[in-house]
Amino acid sequence: MNENYRRHLKRPEWFRKRKTILKRDGYKCRNCGSEKELTVHHRQYHYDKTGGRHLNAWQYKLKYLITLCRRCHDEGHSKFKILNYKV
Ligand SMILES: [Zn+2]
Ligand SMILES: [Zn+2]
Repeated sequence: MNENYRRHLKRPEWFRKRKTILKRDGYKCRNCGSEKELTVHHRQYHYDKTGGRHLNAWQYKLKYLITLCRRCHDEGHSKFKILNYKV
């Protein structure tokens, strides 16, 4: 996760998008069903070749975003490498 991305997570655009995902997933972790400490995870990161940078956190399509509790999220990140795509 780069610095830019970290900053994006504080933006109102991201709060709106995050809420949409939480609502879609019924405010539950999609992995274990927990309702505590939910985070929205990006399944892939996309690098925009023309813009020369990663997409803004809130510009991702809904299918690339998933609700996970903090535990599953941390486990996921230590187990799997998140794919980076150039678009
Ligand atoms: Zn979970
Ligand atoms: Zn994540």
